[in-house]
Amino acid sequence: NSDLILYVNLELLNKKSSRRYVVQEMLGQGTFGQVAKCWDAETNSYVAVKVIKNQPAFYQQAIMEVSLLRLLNEKFDPDDEHHIVRMLDFFLYQNHLCIAFEMLGNNLYELLKRNSLRGLQMKYVRTFSRQILDALIIMKDAGIIHCDLKPENILIAPTVKTAVGVKVIDFGSVCMEGKTIYSYIQSRYYRSPEVLLGYPGQPPDDLLREAKNTGKFFKHVGSIYPSSEARNGASSAYRILSEDEIEARDSKKPKVGRWYFPRGRLDRLIYTYPWKNLSEGNLPETEKADCLALVDFLRGLVEFDPNKRWSPLQASYHPFITGEAFTGPYEPVQETPRIPVGRAAVVDHNPGGGHLL
Ligand code: ATP
Ligand code: MG
Ligand code: MG
Repeated sequence: NSDLILYVNLELLNKKSSRRYVVQEMLGQGTFGQVAKCWDAETNSYVAVKVIKNQPAFYQQAIMEVSLLRLLNEKFDPDDEHHIVRMLDFFLYQNHLCIAFEMLGNNLYELLKRNSLRGLQMKYVRTFSRQILDALIIMKDAGIIHCDLKPENILIAPTVKTAVGVKVIDFGSVCMEGKTIYSYIQSRYYRSPEVLLGYPGQPPDDLLREAKNTGKFFKHVGSIYPSSEARNGASSAYRILSEDEIEARDSKKPKVGRWYFPRGRLDRLIYTYPWKNLSEGNLPETEKADCLALVDFLRGLVEFDPNKRWSPLQASYHPFITGEAFTGPYEPVQETPRIPVGRAAVVDHNPGGGHLL
């Protein structure tokens, strides 16, 4: 809240750079600045330092990032159990606000690219989804909306033993629940239909019609499928039905009114096959069950109507996530209000801007 932000601002004024960070290499570049891998001689460890561009709008938004991340780390995830990046330090250096984070691994986009966009094994899809939902549940408890969830902002995290995990990073576009800060949020390819179309302001029916007209949501939902190269390439991880095959299959089914449009695309996932040693129709039962569960899971996440779309908590009880047997479409129970620990007050502050990619 505004007290938190003021506090962080005052802290910065009085702060002397207490530590010495030796820059080793650049890790990434984003809208807000650059991220460098640095050696922290005091703790004998690597840290990732995000150096914010020195312009007032970026500074203001970065103050939000520091304030809300501190709140999340300290009050909502004191034991570092909920897959949210740890902030270690922040300071001013030559008029740049700098934020030091724990050093994490590759981001998911890099990982997918390295794998020629063939996707990840089902067990990782499940684990990572579960962990991301866990992070989102905590954020919701804190009244914080990330606003920029995308593969580039999900990093591989070292975990105890050999298990692989992920953490959510980049709280540079966060906003508080119930407050419109900027209506132009989320990176373009992942923007939800209501943000694309400016909901509220239009009831869902109009929203749907407009989405159909512009074809934007069609494109949006399309982004969860393997890219066209993966689809056509000989090394493709999946076999996708051709347009003709889909036509033939769908013409036998009644079109389910207005939901036909997104469902038609989702259904394709059911018809995908791992590329190794599997011929059509020869998918092992367990994998078929996984595919069906995954498609049903995605259905609730890409629901057009934001009021019907599953909350992170509701989604976390889906059989795909819990590992229970999938027996048919999942119906989430009404969310019982949890009692959040020290819910953050609403911020009356409009800095920086959303994500303008
Ligand atoms: P965006 O354009 O998405 O808003 P940004 O300027 O806000 O980006 P970040 O997303 O925080 O910056 O970081 C940019 C990139 O730097 C990340 O995608 C990631 O590859 C790398 N990076 C950030 N934090 C870490 C970290 N803690 N450990 C390792 N790499 C990191
Ligand atoms: Mg980012
Ligand atoms: Mg960002």
